[in-house]
Amino acid sequence: MSDLAHYCKATGCVWAADRRRLMCMTHWLRLPSALQGRVAEAIRAEPRASAGINNADHMRVCAEAVEHIASLEGRPLENSFRRLVGIIERAEQPCIVEGEPA
Ligand SMILES: [Zn+2]
Repeated sequence: MSDLAHYCKATGCVWAADRRRLMCMTHWLRLPSALQGRVAEAIRAEPRASAGINNADHMRVCAEAVEHIASLEGRPLENSFRRLVGIIERAEQPCIVEGEPA
């Protein structure tokens, strides 16, 4: 996939988005400034989507932003960021490996 293709992650939106913002300008401006700050911070820390995908905190703040817009617009809250948070959290749960020292 091309790095140039960045689309707004708000549910149902197909506008192009600045890669530092996650969303198109219309949706970005509907986020509370505190949430904008946390999204921008997460993207700065993890500019490559492929790295962010393994980071639960990164995915959690993206999910929060997407859900904020969805609730403003009366859309379903379910989104792929939240699903990924669930997957990462399950993967991070400690598993007992037989024979390993505690
Ligand atoms: Zn949008």
